[in-house]
Amino acid sequence: MLEIKNLHIKTADKEIVKGLNLSIGENQIHAIMGPNGSGKSTLASTLMGHPGYEVTSGEVSFLAENLLEMEPNERAEKGLFLSFQYPSEVEGVNITSYLRMIYNKSREQKVSPIKFREILKEKMEILDIKEEFVNRYLNDGFSGGEKKRMEMLQMLVLEPKLAILDETDSGLDVDALKVVSKAVNYLVEKNKMSVIVITHYTRILNYIKPQFVHVLKDGKIIKEGGEELAHEIESSGYKSYE
Ligand code: ADP
Ligand code: MG
Repeated sequence: MLEIKNLHIKTADKEIVKGLNLSIGENQIHAIMGPNGSGKSTLASTLMGHPGYEVTSGEVSFLAENLLEMEPNERAEKGLFLSFQYPSEVEGVNITSYLRMIYNKSREQKVSPIKFREILKEKMEILDIKEEFVNRYLNDGFSGGEKKRMEMLQMLVLEPKLAILDETDSGLDVDALKVVSKAVNYLVEKNKMSVIVITHYTRILNYIKPQFVHVLKDGKIIKEGGEELAHEIESSGYKSYE
């Protein structure tokens, strides 16, 4: 569903991603791992359509269409989800209204607030989210863990075909990791969603088990393998790939 061929990405006049190839099939879980500064977030931001990153050569197709020509919102409408793509703060909009808005938009239909409450309730139960939370205003004073909950609730509402989670190497607590893995594993099972987990650390991979692991270093994939590669990195770090 996602094909990346010989991708080169530049930012601030510096080449960061230097010829990356990656192929993601339906219902597959991939991990992209790599030391700090290897280009992981650059790749994620580029796939999202962040204007600060320039693709200088290469191709990216998503569901057989040219991803690089799509606006960020088109990418989302086609079924691509990026973990940090929600608006930072929307004044006066509570979470339930916001989620109903994106639900209706992604399906080109209108469900009533009452009907949507029912739909949302089921998703809140999956993540063990309380009623008080969805009555709050969007991102208003959210903690790191609450932002993650919001993100994952948004993912369950959108039901994307491919989710890209850039874990940004920040220390998520165990509760937040569980929320992320519950949401991801639920959609992988129920909707045959595919996932790319981008991370420096192996910790999240104990909750979301990758079938394919790619090691990114200095803008290139330098090693690939199965889940065992993540365990190898857990015990020996990235040093052995230098
Ligand atoms: P990772 O997510 O793997 O830690 P990044 O993609 O964030 O790596 O960064 C890779 C390299 O690109 C780093 O050297 C970083 O300083 C540089 N870089 C990333 N984004 C920018 C930017 N907007 N401006 C300048 N340099 C950047
Ligand atoms: Mg990063």
